[in-house]
Amino acid sequence: MLRLRKEAGLILNNALLLVLLVLAVAAGWTLGRGGLRMDGADRAQLPSQYYRGFNFLLDGEEDDAVDAFTEALAVNEDTLDTHIALGSVLRKRGEVDRAIRIHQNLLKRPQLTAVQLHQSHLELARDFIAAGLYDRAEQLLSDLAVQSTEFSVTAQRHLLDVHEAQRDWLAATEIADQLIAQAEEGGQSATAQGQPAQQLRGHYLCEQADAALESGDDATAGEFYAAALRDQNQDLRARMGLARLCLSAGDPEAALAHFRVIMGSGRNCTPELLALLSDICAVKDGGSQYLAALEEYYALQSSSLLALALAGELEKQRGLAAAEAFLRETLTTHPSVSVAASLVLQGLQSDDSLPEREVFDRLTSAAEGYQCGHCGFTGKARHWRCPGCRHWDSIHYRGGALEQSHG
Ligand SMILES: [Zn+2]
Repeated sequence: MLRLRKEAGLILNNALLLVLLVLAVAAGWTLGRGGLRMDGADRAQLPSQYYRGFNFLLDGEEDDAVDAFTEALAVNEDTLDTHIALGSVLRKRGEVDRAIRIHQNLLKRPQLTAVQLHQSHLELARDFIAAGLYDRAEQLLSDLAVQSTEFSVTAQRHLLDVHEAQRDWLAATEIADQLIAQAEEGGQSATAQGQPAQQLRGHYLCEQADAALESGDDATAGEFYAAALRDQNQDLRARMGLARLCLSAGDPEAALAHFRVIMGSGRNCTPELLALLSDICAVKDGGSQYLAALEEYYALQSSSLLALALAGELEKQRGLAAAEAFLRETLTTHPSVSVAASLVLQGLQSDDSLPEREVFDRLTSAAEGYQCGHCGFTGKARHWRCPGCRHWDSIHYRGGALEQSHG
């Protein structure tokens, strides 16, 4: 059923594309015949390719028909937008070769203005990115960034896409630097077209810090993390990196100072942050202050995850009754299904064989529940860049299954 619907959609798309092409060719030809800018070659070629397209269509050869109509398109100032729109439709359909042919065809025409040529270059660069031909895209975009006034910022934004795809974080940082400097010169913020350039630069610096960490160069990693704080002093990723670095350097006090900035930043607590806090407290004083740290955190942010962690630590240090009393009090002030489930679970603890135990265990588990706020991608771990939509830092912790099903 689903497949049928999908095929029907594809046929409809093909039909729409062909109608668009026929109309575009007819419009271009009419304008040309009306004496408006069309060269002799176009006028001579047009009818034969146009009718060839119809023959392919009648024979049911839609792909050849699309090619014939594409070749028949006249290029002039009046049909430029049609070419650009068609190329864009083809690119989005995954027919990148055809889109490239359309845009390369545009660039051969001498009658286009400089702005129109730049626009065609930009479209061609987008085709190359879609095709994974990053070297060719980079060359076009670098030229555009220098030569074009209208498309300079757009070209630089696409250069970021190219460098991100190639994981060339140094080159990406340089482009972000340029975008920020240009915006500051013009008295604007560098947020046009997507995420703020400062936020992107922060992540490019953290990527370089992570790479330095992997090669065992902690000092360089620390410099990159510190540089990432320049634009965003409370940046979660850089603060987490610095806390881990301080911890491995044997300085838990400094690690806790970084963690306190995270606590005060209002970012949601996650299992990875709890693990970091637990590690810091373990090094600092053998874990004896973990409960106090959790209480400090819970006073700032009353999430179910923190309530359950706090109850677990209370049980360890002061016994089951203290943990239960805390959870019951939490239920009256901050009603939460997972806290209630945890209480039921504690009542069931004497018998591991009860079937409901497994259900409650799963529901109170904090192991899953990350979701992208931009595209809805879900996963069990945090990604700094969403694998679905490629946005940075758009994936947030949503809690376990119960938290998600009850908002
Ligand atoms: Zn996403």
